[in-house]
Amino acid sequence: MRVFKFGGASVNNVERISKLGDILKHYSEEKILIVISAMGKTTNALEKVVRSFYEGKKDEALKAFDLIREQHLTMAKQLLATQYPACEKRMKDFFTEAEWLLYDKPQREYDYYYDQVVCTGELLSTSIISFYLNEIGIANKWFDVRDVIRTDDNFRDANVDWEFTSSKVTDSIVPLFSEHNILLTQGFIGATDENESTTLGREGSDYTAAVFANMLNAESQTIWKDVESVMNADPKQFQDAQPISELNYNEVIEMAYYGAQVIHPKTIKPLQNKNIPLYVKCFLNAALPGTKIHNRPLHKLPPIIVLKENQIMIEMSSKDFSFVGEHHVADLYRLLGKIKIKPNLTQNTAISFIAVLDDRIEKIEKLALEVSEIFDVQVMKDLTLLTIRHYNKEIVEKLTKGKTILLRQETIETMQILMKQ
Ligand code: ASP
Ligand code: MG
Repeated sequence: MRVFKFGGASVNNVERISKLGDILKHYSEEKILIVISAMGKTTNALEKVVRSFYEGKKDEALKAFDLIREQHLTMAKQLLATQYPACEKRMKDFFTEAEWLLYDKPQREYDYYYDQVVCTGELLSTSIISFYLNEIGIANKWFDVRDVIRTDDNFRDANVDWEFTSSKVTDSIVPLFSEHNILLTQGFIGATDENESTTLGREGSDYTAAVFANMLNAESQTIWKDVESVMNADPKQFQDAQPISELNYNEVIEMAYYGAQVIHPKTIKPLQNKNIPLYVKCFLNAALPGTKIHNRPLHKLPPIIVLKENQIMIEMSSKDFSFVGEHHVADLYRLLGKIKIKPNLTQNTAISFIAVLDDRIEKIEKLALEVSEIFDVQVMKDLTLLTIRHYNKEIVEKLTKGKTILLRQETIETMQILMKQ
């Protein structure tokens, strides 16, 4: 049994969806659970619908929702013939489910509405693709993942109820495999015990796939992407980025921590716990080797580069030249926790504490305001934080050439440099 995940970019047009069909033809004898995201930028578009709705701009929200409806109906028409009426019928249920909320006035918290509306993206994409695959002879069974993945009501970042979900998987999903080779469902979404929809955090479909891989004891999980494999740097920032053929779970967790947008960080734990290998493959060319991620130590990794732009450095110095002691540091961390902002780098001297943070303006203002009671606060903006795992002298020189270095920290494995252009 394998688990496949296809992201939004792999299902954003007719050609790509038919590619998905081609890939599955190679696995016709296997049992596969397929997890799919919303098409293309649908999640962003649905987010806008919710924002308009919550700001009281009902017409704008309904208009934007209508556009999403039309796009999906058009996609279904392009892909389907005999199966179109059945698909349209199911899609209409999902449109109605979201719309009856949008016609009302917001009464509950924003995040609740977000989840009720945004989950539509995955429900629509999986419906269209499931009907399409059935129509071209790739028999599959679609299911609503909200009947299986039970979460708490922490809307927009819901936590999976592991016990309930895993007994659901055993009782209702495992038996489906005796009748079907391919099961197909939504990533990113779940439901509470009151049947309210929830979402697991942006890009959460990788995680959904890992939850299923774990609970079904899959032999592997594959994430099909529009890039050839995991790269040692973001190819949009570095033209000479290189593919990496092998990684281990720890390295991926570290990369995600420093800001590499490779795989949703929550994905790793469920796989690591059962030692299930994770493959990242290119759906545009399945013959490419991709990346294999496993649990074994690796000795020779290339330098892995993560560049975080838009950083700010906030320096907090004691007003009376007293040392920054443990109680100050503890207070500062408590405050960072309260504001929910993670420092990307910290350093302290006798009388000052430095934190490098993403420039999230409301959060930074709150932080600066609160600490200014005890400290003098200085903020520097528009900085870049460079992280290099497995660094060497040449690469550090190359990447810092001509830059002003404000702060530099290193361990044996990782170097972090805060720079100004
Ligand atoms: N559709 C969701 C998002 O765009 C989940 C995902 O793609 O994994 O964040
Ligand atoms: Mg996505």
